[in-house]
Amino acid sequence: MQETDSILQKVAAAEPCVWFSPNLRPAKEALAAIPYTRTNVRDAAERLARFAPYIERCFPETAADGGLIESPLTEIPHMAALLRETEALCLPGRMFLKRDSDLAVAGSVKARGGIYEVLKHAETLALKEGVLHTTDDYAVLAEPQCKAFFNRYEIAVGSTGNLGLSIGIMSAALGFRVTVHMSSDARQWKKDLLRSKGVRVMEYAGDYSEAVRQGRALSDADPMSYFVDDENSVDLFMGYAVAAERLQGQLSAKGIPVDAEHPLFVYLPCGVGGAPGGITFGLKLVYGDNVHVFYVEPVQCPCMLLGLATGLNSKICVQDVGLTGKTHADGLAVGRPSGFVGSVVRALVSGEFTIEDYRLYDLMRALLNTEGIFIEPSACACLPGPAMLAAAPGMDAYLTAHRLSGRMDNAAHVLWATGGRLVPKEIRNEYIKTRLK
Ligand SMILES: *Cc1c(COP(=O)(O)O)cnc(C)c1O
Repeated sequence: MQETDSILQKVAAAEPCVWFSPNLRPAKEALAAIPYTRTNVRDAAERLARFAPYIERCFPETAADGGLIESPLTEIPHMAALLRETEALCLPGRMFLKRDSDLAVAGSVKARGGIYEVLKHAETLALKEGVLHTTDDYAVLAEPQCKAFFNRYEIAVGSTGNLGLSIGIMSAALGFRVTVHMSSDARQWKKDLLRSKGVRVMEYAGDYSEAVRQGRALSDADPMSYFVDDENSVDLFMGYAVAAERLQGQLSAKGIPVDAEHPLFVYLPCGVGGAPGGITFGLKLVYGDNVHVFYVEPVQCPCMLLGLATGLNSKICVQDVGLTGKTHADGLAVGRPSGFVGSVVRALVSGEFTIEDYRLYDLMRALLNTEGIFIEPSACACLPGPAMLAAAPGMDAYLTAHRLSGRMDNAAHVLWATGGRLVPKEIRNEYIKTRLK
């Protein structure tokens, strides 16, 4: 396996690279050392089930799934064929796209964690004040007297974009007053969309961390305000973790086995770490050692890779090694990883790879041309996963260490498409025309 030191040199030089984590442990051992269990994920899943009648009533597009916000899993044979044709090497096995890009309400993976945290906070307030009882049909929350109740409270969040959309849209629907603190690099259309839903958007000249810091200070000063903490929230994390058992249902419905003979590889675009971290935790609970999880970050902001590889977690940021933290992949433009997530997933993640921005647009066009599916540029970071791993110097050692040699023909690869649905048509057309190289 390639040494972490030489990988860190590549990281600092903003060269694309693949890192296999020396911290990966057998799932059983790793999970036993984490202060959260299956019970936490089940609790989140049950809460989402209680809210399903309300979600169905407020967001009729979820009716087909009975008020559960879930995305399709689609096999992408034509994109797989293209990758096999154009890339020097590519792992064998079937390729699937997990289309969180099409998730109802928020149009990105944030519809899992962000919406879950808002619902949990709403439930806590409503139960405490006697507005709601756990035995009620939660559809009652759509009634005017409930909205008026929530309107006494505020929800605030700092966001580069998509988290703000999910928190903003869900909070506003419940009746909360909501403020989204955004960094200057957040896309204008996201700010416009939020404002059109009655969300207050505050903009900051600095980066994402600055928006979070100022937003938190304002919220903390108001006892009626609740701040969603993207960097340390256990609720967000558990909302994301529920995705794993939903994926399990979808894979088994397609007759795709996952066991020692049939490995599952999952590729997740990573920003601050909450979404990929929560999903990883859920997947390891479900599949143990038979799932192999890899994160992908832009070459200019591989914050989680730095945190995990150095062991410094949130005590290191990309600027510390001379990187800019700037990328076209807006959901991934994060300079400092979540220390909470890093410490939880440290022994669960198989590795990481980094990608250059120009490839995101090329891959976006390739997916659109081969499969007719649009996803936003940041989501495209996962697409070359099976090719990048195949070409990585450490891959043979990884396959041997995990008894995968000779079994990769049976593999399934899940490429996690993390966003896209809410991107307006004009912006899609702009993306489609963008060529950085
Ligand atoms: C937020 C986001 C991610 C990564 O989630 P983190 O919790 O920030 O790691 C990936 N893709 C898209 C499109 C996102 O919006």
